[in-house]
Amino acid sequence: MEIGLACQTVVKPNMHLAIMPFFPANKAVYDIERIKPAATTLAEFYPEVFKCIGCNTCTKSCPMDIDVMAYMANAIRGNIQRVAELSFDCVMCGLCSARCPAEEAQYNVAILARRLAGRHLIPRAKHLAEMVRRLEAGEFESALADVMAHSGKDLVRLYEAREIEPEMAGEEWIPGRKAAATEGGN
Ligand code: SF4
Ligand code: SF4
Repeated sequence: MEIGLACQTVVKPNMHLAIMPFFPANKAVYDIERIKPAATTLAEFYPEVFKCIGCNTCTKSCPMDIDVMAYMANAIRGNIQRVAELSFDCVMCGLCSARCPAEEAQYNVAILARRLAGRHLIPRAKHLAEMVRRLEAGEFESALADVMAHSGKDLVRLYEAREIEPEMAGEEWIPGRKAAATEGGN
């Protein structure tokens, strides 16, 4: 028998679907604006991290192939940034917690780390701030109105003809460059 997460498994004939009850792991309450990203913060909200016995059951249980034990080790060390990086693909399924002999709430520790990193540690993206400014200034309102004026059939045609980001595009890629290059004869 093969078992998989519904969000990651291609539908097959005669497949059976079951809803797993969410594992009731410890969930701390905090205001991310007020708490600081100190080396002790994760342990302050989840002191049970120190109960980890390093058995690696969590890593073996993870359907996302995350090194859960490694991020828990970093949580014990207070390395918030590393916990955030290592747990980035977590889908909060709770399987690691369900099988942990130390009753850890790995995925809740991890999401606290990612929230702390996102709110307090990672530098603000300048291009995102610029795009928010342009949105708030109404720069895209006429383009949106133009889209809304199309029929459903036209929208399908436009969608299919859209410019798609090349697979190997760099960070600087934005839509429109290909069109501009083509018009310039490149
Ligand atoms: S399953 Fe629990 S005790 Fe074992 S390594 Fe993972 S967090 Fe630690
Ligand atoms: S909750 Fe996250 S870390 Fe734990 S098993 Fe699921 S995907 Fe992996």
